[in-house]
Amino acid sequence: MSEITLPTQFGTITTDVVVIGGGIVGSATAFWLSKAGMKTILVEKRDALSSLTTAASVECFRTQFTEKAMADLSLTSVDMFENFNDVVGLPDIDIHITQRGYLFVTDDEAQLPDLKKAVTQYHANGVTAAEYIGTSDLHKRFPFLAPQALGATFNIQDGWLSTHEATYGFAKGAADARFFMKTAVTGIQTDSRGVSAVETDKGTISTRVVVNCAGPYAGIIGSMAGLDMPLRTVKRQKAYIKTSHPDLPAQAPFTVDLVNHGYWRPEAGGLLCAWVDPDEPESPPSDELPTDWDFAAESIHRVSRLNPFLEKVSDNLKAEDVNVSAGQYVYTPDDKPVIGPSGEIDGFYLNCGYWCGVMMSPGAGRRIADLITGKMANKDNPLRYTRFAEGDFEKGDSFLK
Ligand SMILES: Cc1cc2nc3c(=O)[nH]c(=O)nc-3n(C[C@H](O)[C@H](O)[C@H](O)COP(=O)(O)OP(=O)(O)OC[C@H]3O[C@@H](n4cnc5c(N)ncnc54)[C@H](O)[C@@H]3O)c2cc1C
Repeated sequence: MSEITLPTQFGTITTDVVVIGGGIVGSATAFWLSKAGMKTILVEKRDALSSLTTAASVECFRTQFTEKAMADLSLTSVDMFENFNDVVGLPDIDIHITQRGYLFVTDDEAQLPDLKKAVTQYHANGVTAAEYIGTSDLHKRFPFLAPQALGATFNIQDGWLSTHEATYGFAKGAADARFFMKTAVTGIQTDSRGVSAVETDKGTISTRVVVNCAGPYAGIIGSMAGLDMPLRTVKRQKAYIKTSHPDLPAQAPFTVDLVNHGYWRPEAGGLLCAWVDPDEPESPPSDELPTDWDFAAESIHRVSRLNPFLEKVSDNLKAEDVNVSAGQYVYTPDDKPVIGPSGEIDGFYLNCGYWCGVMMSPGAGRRIADLITGKMANKDNPLRYTRFAEGDFEKGDSFLK
C-alpha cells in the first residue's frame, strides 16, 4: 500500500527514485515507477497533493491535436482515464469522467479551411472520432450557439474529470510508493556518476534517479542540478460562476471560440469560463498568484459572443457567485512538454513543461517510467528534452494552448 505522510526529520534515507512534485504529473509518475518495481519516494513542499497548478485547472482532456506526438500521448491518456479503476487497480475511485467533447467553433469564414485541415490531420493521427461540423448541423446539434457560428471541430471522446480524484487515485494505487508532504527540495547532489541525492528541508534522500515534476518550479529544480531549461511560466485564470439559470445548456461540451480564445463548460452548480490571453506576460513561478476581478467580466464578454445564453445568465450575477482562481501554464520552445532524461546529468529526468499536464499525465507517467527502466529508447521518444539541443523541434498549429 502506498503511504501519504508528513514526515519528521529523517536524516539520510535511500531509495531507487525520487519524484519531485505532487501535482497530477508527479503522482502519475510515482504510480508508474512503483508499478515498474522501483522503490519510489515523492516529495511535495505543500501540505497536500494536487494543490497548486493541478487544482487551478479546468480539468479537461482532449485528443484534438494536429501534432502526432501530442495526439499519441493524449489518446493513450484518454484510454487510461476511461479505464482508470483497472489502471490503478482500485475499484472504488471515481474520477467523474464526463465525455461530452471539445467544440472548437468559429464565425470567421476564413478559418473554415483550417478547421477542415485540422480534422484531416486528427484522423491521420489516429483520432478517428473527430469531425468537422458545418453550419446547419452545428446549430441542430448545439442550439445554444449564436446564429453567426459557421463551423466547428468536435470529438465526443474529449471531456473533463476530477483532477483531485485522479491525482489521489494514482497515489493510492502506487504500490509501495511513499508520498512525503510538506517536504521541500532545497538542493540536488551529483557526483561522477550523476545524481547522488536530493536534499530536502526534512533530510537527505540518497538516490541515483530523480524525476523533476515540479510544475511551474521545474526550471528552479532543474537549475539545482545545473540545468538551464528553456521554460516560460505564464499566469492563466479561470472564473467559476454559480448559477441555476434555466438558459444554461447543462449538457454542452467544452466550447472554445477560435476567434477570441474565450472558452466555457458546464460545471456542477454552474459553469467555468475563461480566455487565453496571448499577450499575457511571463511571470516568475509562484504559489501566490493575484487574480483580477475584471478577468471574469472579460471572459463572460468573450464567451457570450458565440454563446449568447451567457449574457442572460450573467445579467444579475452577485459578486459571491463568481470565483476567480489562477495558476501558471509552462511553455517550452515548441509548446510541448519534456519527458525523458536531461541528457546532461545522468539519472536526472524531466516530466514537465506543461500547459496541458492534466490531460497528458497518465501517458506521460508511463512513458517516463518506460524510459527510466529501459523499456523505451529515448531516440524513439519525440518529446525527449534533448530535441532542443538537437534542433529537432517545431511549433505545431493545434488550437488553443
Ligand atoms: C486556469 C488553468 C486552466 C487549465 N486547464 C487545463 C485543462 O483543462 N487541462 C489540462 O490538461 N491542463 C490544464 N491546465 C494546466 C494544468 O493545470 C497543468 O499543466 C498541470 O496541473 C501540471 O501538473 P503538474 O503536476 O506538472 O504541476 P503542479 O500541479 O503545479 O504540481 C507541481 C508540484 O511541485 C511542487 N513543488 C515545486 N517545487 C518544489 C520543491 N522545491 N520541493 C517539493 N515540491 C515542489 C509544487 O508545490 C506542486 O504541488 C490549466 C492550468 C490553468 C492555470
